[in-house]
Amino acid sequence: MGKVLIVDDNADLVSSLKAVLEGPTARFDVVTASHGAEALKIAARQGFDVAIVDVKLPDASGVDLIQPLRERAPLSEVVLITGFASVDAAIAALRSGAFAFVLKSFRPEELISTVEQALTKVQLKREREELERRYRALVELTDVLVVGLDDRDCVGLFNPKASAVTKVAADQALGRRFLESWIPLEDQSRMKDAIALARATGGREVETGFTDARRRVRWHLSWAPEDVGRGMVYGIGIDVTERRALERRAGEAEAMSAMGTLAMNLAHEIRNPLNAAVLQLNLMNRQVDKLDAEPEIRAALHKRAEIVGDEIGRLNRLLTEFLELAKPRGIAREPVHVAALVGSVLDLELDTARERGISVKRELATDGCVAIGDREKLKQVVINLVVNAIEAMKNGGTLTAKVTSQPEHVTIAICDTGPGIEPQFLPSVFDPFFTTKEAGTGLGLSIVRKIVDQHSGEVRIESERGKGTRVVVAIPTGRGATTT
Ligand code: ADP
Ligand code: MG
Repeated sequence: MGKVLIVDDNADLVSSLKAVLEGPTARFDVVTASHGAEALKIAARQGFDVAIVDVKLPDASGVDLIQPLRERAPLSEVVLITGFASVDAAIAALRSGAFAFVLKSFRPEELISTVEQALTKVQLKREREELERRYRALVELTDVLVVGLDDRDCVGLFNPKASAVTKVAADQALGRRFLESWIPLEDQSRMKDAIALARATGGREVETGFTDARRRVRWHLSWAPEDVGRGMVYGIGIDVTERRALERRAGEAEAMSAMGTLAMNLAHEIRNPLNAAVLQLNLMNRQVDKLDAEPEIRAALHKRAEIVGDEIGRLNRLLTEFLELAKPRGIAREPVHVAALVGSVLDLELDTARERGISVKRELATDGCVAIGDREKLKQVVINLVVNAIEAMKNGGTLTAKVTSQPEHVTIAICDTGPGIEPQFLPSVFDPFFTTKEAGTGLGLSIVRKIVDQHSGEVRIESERGKGTRVVVAIPTGRGATTT
């Protein structure tokens, strides 16, 4: 039911108009005003859809009332009525935005029909406004990238998500060449072809890098020939970086397990001769002591033996860690008190830390920090992270271990004030055998990731050059609704 406001100082006319419009079935909801000021007050207070306004009012001209009335009731329409016909008046009225101009000698059906038409227009405008609002909200709030490209592949639309990813505000992005600005060189021609195909066929899908080659975005391109100028190609982009990384990791895991058995046997085979070598080395050391030779020569021989011993030690460590990584054994699922576990690892490493001038800070919340998992394996995770932190702080510093609990996860954060990780190394630190240390095995973080994956947890590493590194591990508590 439309809301109609009648503005006229002729009380008889107003009441007959009201009767006509309300009719026997109350088709319209009618309010009345006898002069301009009252009309504006009503409009501001309760709004209206269509106003029927007399051109000649005691305090104003109906024509002058059109703008202020419509400002108070957005998307409304005004129908002017007048007792005398004048072409000039009609033109002036329509110019100032009246929907129609009706002579007072009208028949009731005529007026009803005009008001109905005005109402239809109002409703259409409201619907369009609502659709536009929803569309805008969708584009603004959505978590996908939305960009519009004009016929020269320049940006005509750039949603907040696109701004967030590119760190370029929408108004800065408008007009810029899309491909050259944000698509990595190696993907530019593929993207260009896809856009051309979208123009030719209506739609196209393509996956490219975005802002840098590592971020993968799957684009759904569609062609809107009617839009702005010579049409727009809209690209809706979904960030698939994480999905691709997961797929890659699944692939790695597969390759790993195929190689695993073979390599594990090999590792075991290497261990025996290594143990034999250590034994021989010890015997040799003892014989050197008994040797009838100069002390310097004996010392030199001992030194050599020590180097061989250290190298064998390194090989042994490599084998142990490798076997840990390759072992296909499943994990236990028991309640693990994470704060206590982290505390015990810190106790274990305290002396080493002190020797290196590192102070250890514990921020271990105890309430509710129980995760479901394998105590020994989780301990291994913490040891590997703490050892890395200690090894990073060659000139002392602070190691902070934090344990906090959320409903679905227990979070462990191991932070150091070491030199941080070079940005170009950051993507590789979890790769098996990646190390920047002279005697490193490069398996510590691979083991961390494997164990965290087995727990359906997450591990994240944040590092700032010169400031330090922070590794955050989240292990599900098994209490949440989702534990992905
Ligand atoms: P490893 O410790 O044997 O080198 P990891 O897998 O534990 O193997 O670590 C891989 C690499 O990641 C290290 O060599 C180092 O470059 C880097 N890294 C790991 N943790 C830290 C840290 N806390 N600070 C600086 N670099 C780190
Ligand atoms: Mg390590």
